[in-house]
Amino acid sequence: MQFVLASHNQKKLEELSAILGTLGIEVVPLPEDAPEPEESGQTFEENARIKALSAQVFTGMPAIADDSGLAVDALSGAPGVYSARYCEGTDHDRNLFLLQNMEHVDECERQARFVCAICCVLGDGQEITVRGECEGEILTELHGTEGFGYDPLFYVREYDCTFGELPAAVKNRISHRAHALEKLAAVLRKKLKFGQETGEQKTC
Ligand code: IMP
Repeated sequence: MQFVLASHNQKKLEELSAILGTLGIEVVPLPEDAPEPEESGQTFEENARIKALSAQVFTGMPAIADDSGLAVDALSGAPGVYSARYCEGTDHDRNLFLLQNMEHVDECERQARFVCAICCVLGDGQEITVRGECEGEILTELHGTEGFGYDPLFYVREYDCTFGELPAAVKNRISHRAHALEKLAAVLRKKLKFGQETGEQKTC
């Protein structure tokens, strides 16, 4: 079975392929000429669904999409679905902007989480949506050069360091994306098993 990934990001393709490959699912990239839908959702789940449906309609194949970002409690969940466009500029600029917006937030009130929603649209129109989260705190200065985005500000108590200081292999095991992917794999595994037992495998 093949899924088209609603993204041109090669790293995401590899990450998804590694997990879904164990279920016999091949993940293929989105054609270059596929439209980029507007991510107009108010939630990560809505945006993942918008992207998955767009890819499914364009290719006629089962499709999979993710949407992720950072939610800070003291900022009522911001930057949230606007994480990638929190302000103009680079990841570093967005980190500085976040620090500026949290200047007056006490040390004990800096809880945040990375969130990842994944949506799958199957061949028969069935949809599966899962969410993974990773809890942390926003530091008052940047630490580490690993990863991307808000990683240098995201402190994980269990490892006593930021995502920006964690080796990629560790981050990829505990991240919001990893948790969402584990959930998706569990749902798909059940679905495929049920399909085999009832002869309904063609639903995907
Ligand atoms: P996307 O939905 O994966 O494209 O991510 C949207 C934005 O959320 C990124 O541009 C980053 O700013 C932020 N983000 C998502 N996942 C991570 C992560 O693992 N580390 C740091 N920032 C992230």
